[in-house]
Amino acid sequence: MRLLLFGLIALLTYFLLKKLLKNYQFSRKNQVIDSKRMVRCAHCGIFLPEDEALTESNHNFCCREHRELAKSDKG
Ligand SMILES: [Zn+2]
Repeated sequence: MRLLLFGLIALLTYFLLKKLLKNYQFSRKNQVIDSKRMVRCAHCGIFLPEDEALTESNHNFCCREHRELAKSDKG
């Protein structure tokens, strides 16, 4: 009976630790996403990190081609 109780506690501890670890990894992941601001390409609408985006007159673009295309659209 004592062995059963010990096993139960061990199992409970295992699941608790697993859950805690999962939560920890999840919050860490969120922090990474939060630290990188995402911007949207004004031409195709794709999301990309702000530091990778090309900016032209307050608009963000994913690549040089889309920046040029948006420019030529306006005339
Ligand atoms: Zn684009």
